[in-house]
Amino acid sequence: MAFSKDTKRELARVIPEERCCRIAELSAYYDFNGYLFGGGKYLDFYHFTPLIARKILTLVKGVFPEVQTQLLVQRARARKNQVYTVRVLQPVDARMVHEAMRSQEYLDQEREILALSCCRKAYVRGAFLGHGSVTNPKKTYHLEIFTEKYEVAQKVYHNINAFGLEAKITTRKGDLLVYLKDADHIVTLLNLMGAYNALMQLENVRIVKDMRNRVNRLVNCETANVEKTIQAAVEQIDAVEKIQKHMSLSDLPPKLAEIATLRIENPYATLKELGQMINPPISKSGVNYRLQQLIKISKSLG
Ligand SMILES: [Zn+2]
Repeated sequence: MAFSKDTKRELARVIPEERCCRIAELSAYYDFNGYLFGGGKYLDFYHFTPLIARKILTLVKGVFPEVQTQLLVQRARARKNQVYTVRVLQPVDARMVHEAMRSQEYLDQEREILALSCCRKAYVRGAFLGHGSVTNPKKTYHLEIFTEKYEVAQKVYHNINAFGLEAKITTRKGDLLVYLKDADHIVTLLNLMGAYNALMQLENVRIVKDMRNRVNRLVNCETANVEKTIQAAVEQIDAVEKIQKHMSLSDLPPKLAEIATLRIENPYATLKELGQMINPPISKSGVNYRLQQLIKISKSLG
């Protein structure tokens, strides 16, 4: 969880510069945890994390400096933790904030894709901060945002995928889950939200993982090669020993006699090494050719 917490702590400090983006991020908190009460008497944003409640308050004060607000801390009924509520007090202000949250510019009204990409980033950041988590990349690549509200899940899903990402939706214990599993896509989303430290951390883990995989592949490959070499050497030695049962090696053509002796005396030498023991040295394929001749002779001996 530490990775997720660190990522959120980092994002909690990101305050968008543009007013449009501040409204967009606030609207994410409002979609997940916001209510207009008593026919518009007051408006609440609530959260269980003080850090995020504080960010909501900062954004509300920044966007609507004239509005009267109150921060309430209450103990949640069925839970041990406390609820932090940012309340907009006056009915006229509550209505105004509600309208601002609702009347944003959409690229696609039906799917509620925000028109500006700067605002889309801010919205997704709000959604992730409010109701998301990201798994420690050392374990697995997984980022999710959950909600029990169908329309909100759809909105998050479409705004993420408007960046060319491939988020998916599933359900878990009555919640809808918008999630990403692809490391590249998670990195892209962290980047879009402004979680640069988290992004670097994930990339580092990824590099180490990738290197380890490559080393493992290399080791497997080397082992396979070594086995092949040993197998070939065994076959060559068997051939020479069989020939020796039928004749003296000195009865062979001198070039073959020479390589046969070297092979027996140096069972672990590679073909290249055997070639260098001959004077003048010969190539690996030259050695191989001579050894193949020996194998042929041994086979002909029945
Ligand atoms: Zn914007």
